[in-house]
Amino acid sequence: MKKLLTAAALSAVLLTALTSCSAKTSSSQPTASERDVFAMDTFMTMKAYGDGAESALEAAEERIRELEAELSVTAQDSDIAHINRANGAEVEVSRDTALLVDAGGKYWVETDDALDIRVYPVLREWGFTTGEYHVPDEATIAELLRKVHSGDIAVSETSVQIPAEAEIDLGALAKGYTGDEIMAIFRDNGVTSALISLGGNVQALGSKPDGSDWRVGIKDPFSPDENMCVVSISDRAVVTSGNYERYFTGDDGKVYWHIIDPNDGYPADNGLVSVTVIGESGLRCDALSTALFVMGTDKAQNYLCEHTDVDAVLVTDDGRVLYTDGLSDSLEMKSGMPAEVIVRD
Ligand code: AMP
Ligand code: MG
Repeated sequence: MKKLLTAAALSAVLLTALTSCSAKTSSSQPTASERDVFAMDTFMTMKAYGDGAESALEAAEERIRELEAELSVTAQDSDIAHINRANGAEVEVSRDTALLVDAGGKYWVETDDALDIRVYPVLREWGFTTGEYHVPDEATIAELLRKVHSGDIAVSETSVQIPAEAEIDLGALAKGYTGDEIMAIFRDNGVTSALISLGGNVQALGSKPDGSDWRVGIKDPFSPDENMCVVSISDRAVVTSGNYERYFTGDDGKVYWHIIDPNDGYPADNGLVSVTVIGESGLRCDALSTALFVMGTDKAQNYLCEHTDVDAVLVTDDGRVLYTDGLSDSLEMKSGMPAEVIVRD
């Protein structure tokens, strides 16, 4: 089996903001404090401005490590590992874990089953959490889907209980929530201007120190070393789910990627190759980028017409860019891909 690319971590860093603010600036500009962290299987970069920036970055790194220890699906001792090994018993967990499992349930309903944190047994079988990639046979997928749909999850503020056969994974949500938590830490430390990139998740606090918007590149999924467009934002998360982030080529020559359609247990192939969601909440953007990818071109557009609190950039498998009208003044195309506006009102 040929392992083509597991470079989500590395490539994610390329989706960093196109800022001109180099770390050490002229005397009129405030100085940026920066920190790089490898956690949650990805490279993270953080840049913050202001007197409290150094201590904010220190606290942010601590929080990242704490969340990783709670939420990792592969660590032996995380909340998620305990839940998945509990054989149907109720498990005491951190408030973070309970909050995210609860959010997973809510988004499962809101996205009409597109986001399902119980899809983990299928995901693991494909090798996306182990690196042992292979195409499972149909009977195996059917049996694992039975486990995925074996029952509901119960959550309190500090406990989670899943069916004995089920297993969960918060990979679609964890980085988005982490971004929100870092923004809160920055604010608490008096930082008013900051930009972070947690893998494919970019999130900005305020605007650039000079008052202008941050400019964030969105990758061309057909050529991920290049940006297909740039969006100008302040106080927003920009979260992308793309088929180029983690994938392998099967013995049959087909390419399989890491976002699974919970309806059939195969990589979601419903017309989209990349989805970027832009909004105030990193968690919401993260949940929706994955879910809209699963929904595919038509359902995703319908969803966006009904949920105008977020904007989005969709890329179809035939190379079209569809973006919501809220981005009309802030999106600048960089590639020659044909672009259409999703008009909502
Ligand atoms: P993201 O990069 O945010 O789109 O999340 C992708 C990750 O979410 C995968 O690596 C899996 O851990 C997990 N995942 C894949 N498909 C789904 C799905 N349909 N529902 C929930 N989580 C998923
Ligand atoms: Mg996501």
